[in-house]
Amino acid sequence: MSTQQILEALQQLRAADLPTHGGRTLAYVYDSGVAEADELGRAALAMYGGTNGLDPTAFPSLLQMERDLVDFARPMFHGADAMVGTVTSGGTESILLAVKTARDAAAVEKPVIVVPDTIHAAFHKAAHYFGVERVSVPVDPVTFRADPAAIGVALEEYGDRVVLVAVSAPSYAHGVLDPVQEVADLTRPRGIRLHVDACIGGWVLPWTDDLPAWDFAVDGVTSISADLHKYAYTPKGVSLLLHADPGYRRAQFFASADWPGYTMLNSTVQSTKSGGPLAAAWAVVRYFGVDGYRRLTQEALAGTQAVTDGVAGIDHLRVVVQPDSTLVAIGADEALDVFTLSDLMLDRGWFVQPQMSFKEFPATLHVSLSAATAASVPDFLAALRDSVDAAVAAGPIEVDSALREAASAIDPATLDDVTFDALLQIAGLAGGNGEVAAPERMAPVNALLDVAPPAVREALLVAFLDRLSR
Ligand SMILES: *Cc1c(COP(=O)(O)O)cnc(C)c1O
Repeated sequence: MSTQQILEALQQLRAADLPTHGGRTLAYVYDSGVAEADELGRAALAMYGGTNGLDPTAFPSLLQMERDLVDFARPMFHGADAMVGTVTSGGTESILLAVKTARDAAAVEKPVIVVPDTIHAAFHKAAHYFGVERVSVPVDPVTFRADPAAIGVALEEYGDRVVLVAVSAPSYAHGVLDPVQEVADLTRPRGIRLHVDACIGGWVLPWTDDLPAWDFAVDGVTSISADLHKYAYTPKGVSLLLHADPGYRRAQFFASADWPGYTMLNSTVQSTKSGGPLAAAWAVVRYFGVDGYRRLTQEALAGTQAVTDGVAGIDHLRVVVQPDSTLVAIGADEALDVFTLSDLMLDRGWFVQPQMSFKEFPATLHVSLSAATAASVPDFLAALRDSVDAAVAAGPIEVDSALREAASAIDPATLDDVTFDALLQIAGLAGGNGEVAAPERMAPVNALLDVAPPAVREALLVAFLDRLSR
């Protein structure tokens, strides 16, 4: 194939994807709406795509750009001169490293992390990967914020085994800021590390007013994760993990001289790593600077306020809790279900992300509002009103009783191909050759998952992914 044909083929493949620009994809992607910044990011990504962060002495440019990004972040997060940071491939890698570092530094038997129910699932993954027990505690049922009293109870119960407490700034599902100071007052006297997960708020909250202190300004915060590939509006694959001082970071690093090849010396999970995302982030952060990000934040926050105001005026919908940032959780009453609403919004060109019910939290729709969406909030609200009318007319989804029974009989520990095939058959999702047929609508699938316990959901989705990727 000619390069021309190959590029066309790539374009064609992209046609089935959600759009990354235009401000109508309200999760997964973040759009500044500034074409020049996007172009700059892509150019830097391409320029550095072949460089390797494996060895900072071989590519000093990468070390320099990493230091520059950390320097940019220091005043943003009220870091002391001693604050250090590492560029990682994303929020999950930052969080994996924060948990691993805390575990290794504490070196206790049976390490525990204490987190609120609303903490991002990346902490679940970290606990799972690193053999750390996760103790999740309830949040305040009205504000959806972490409850310091519940964290305090867990700290008493698990004592010296606790290597890390983590809270969110803000939480992904509800967009609210946890009470960092109150939690720090519990961890600091006990000498326990406190991580603030600002993966999604890190490039927004520093430019908002009227929020209580939540970053290194709070004595006792030992690390912060902040993604650049969200609200720094840079291409994917870049996040920062910041530590209050080098002592807190030390156990993050890994070296092995115990083999005949090059001595492996890594600051991150990845060893060979492209310098592309780092260079792109460096370029876009230089482009926007503090003033640019302040402006983009104001736009995104104004858009968020317009969404919350608009939703409050739509019958059958409600904003679950007034957000502190650019994320909104939208709930519905029993006249409709949010999964149908999500499908209907997609028909109208808007992607809003379904969030399933969990414990006391109802199923909701998640909206991450980018600067590029702000101008089209009236269109968004019009589509939402229209979709609500259609969803009410359709009525809430009734999960087929045979399907519900089959799903509830599943033992997540032993879900095998035969059982999964049978379930696909009942659900009308069996394609040829054991494949999954693409569902016409996602709502029936989501509604089924929603009535299943989380462990069954996980098993079903893993089986689903396995089929998709065979
Ligand atoms: C996005 C996010 C993460 C995980 O980051 P990835 O970049 O998707 O790996 C963690 N915490 C919060 C609050 C997030 O929003």
